[in-house]
Amino acid sequence: MSAVRKVEVAGDNSYSIEIAPGLLDDGACLAKPLRGRHALIVSDRNVAPLYLERVHASLTAAKPQLSVASFVIPSGEHEKTLARFGECLHALAELGATRDATVIALGGGVVGDLAGFAAACWMRGIDCVQLPTTLLAMVDSSVGGKTAVDLPAGKNLVGAFHPPRAVIADTAALRTLPERELRAGLAEVVKYGAIFDASFLVWLEQQADALLARDDEALAEAIARSCGYKAEVVARDPFERGDRAMLNFGHTFGHAIETEQGYAGTTGDGLNHGEAVAVGMVLAARLSTALGRAGSADADRLQRLLERLGLPTAIPAGLDPQALLARMRLDKKADADGLRFILWDAAGAARIVSGVADEAVLGVLAQ
Ligand code: NAD
Ligand code: ZN
Repeated sequence: MSAVRKVEVAGDNSYSIEIAPGLLDDGACLAKPLRGRHALIVSDRNVAPLYLERVHASLTAAKPQLSVASFVIPSGEHEKTLARFGECLHALAELGATRDATVIALGGGVVGDLAGFAAACWMRGIDCVQLPTTLLAMVDSSVGGKTAVDLPAGKNLVGAFHPPRAVIADTAALRTLPERELRAGLAEVVKYGAIFDASFLVWLEQQADALLARDDEALAEAIARSCGYKAEVVARDPFERGDRAMLNFGHTFGHAIETEQGYAGTTGDGLNHGEAVAVGMVLAARLSTALGRAGSADADRLQRLLERLGLPTAIPAGLDPQALLARMRLDKKADADGLRFILWDAAGAARIVSGVADEAVLGVLAQ
């Protein structure tokens, strides 16, 4: 087996992220963070048939006294609900889960957010181990402790900060991931380079083909480096009171596109989250140029990289700039005296900028 890459997330609730192909079959690795006698594996109907039995078998082989149950939801964002959250708690009750029980999230960000929130609430908080199976979950949602479910009124409205006990990312699980989901995850990987490190963008340019071909080494390196950037900012700002908001680079525009399309990405006829973020990052880079903060060469280069990764970089036809602007005003990332954006001074050097004038934003949306 290849070497296991390890990233530590420092803080009051420190934990480690382990990354390597084959970890879902490594009982010792999976069982190590478990303390008590009970574990509930939460998964979805796409992931469970592929990996649930394997995880169950690895765990019980390593820890025969463990009592393991599973709770499987249909897949998709529309399942990240209070109703599924309630069912998950009932599954914990049925298992007889005590305070030292562990919730194991086996799946993408939907499962991770739901399972993490159930772990945050069961008996006022038990351990959650994240076994992310999408690239997005490996580089983003499984790390940092944000958990939530959606309400009809909006996404992620009910949740908690509840850091995982451990994150274990088996890169081999990415082999079964639909192509479009892989590309969406790559958008978030590019985001880290855009915010924090221009040399990572250069590395991504060099590795684009290997990443698209799902080369284990390239993926593991991309995940480890992405988690490293996220770990650093999360350790500094665990509750997103300050510069953790930089992780929203491309997201103010991206969310406006997603909401304006009615989250059609989940049904296939609109942009999904990663795709919307790809467009949003190009718009944020262009806005930085329009405001005189940065030159245009870095924005052009970012656009070319995203295109190579098969991601969209222009606003979908038919979306009205004024409507997008109105969406951004409603976004929780806006503040009282104007729109707040994550912009950059150059590739790899992002900053939070408040009070951005509507005209500048409209200018970029209409380009
Ligand atoms: P997802 O969980 O819906 O997974 C995408 C699709 O891939 C699903 O159909 C799933 O069943 C399938 N799938 C997952 N792993 C697979 C595999 N290995 N092989 C085959 N199919 C597989 O979506 P996602 O993109 O992973 O996560 C999106 C969610 O993450 C959103 O709800 C978002 O709000 C949340 N999120 C949370 C944070 C955070 O900090 N908590 C950060 C970013 C995103
Ligand atoms: Zn995102």
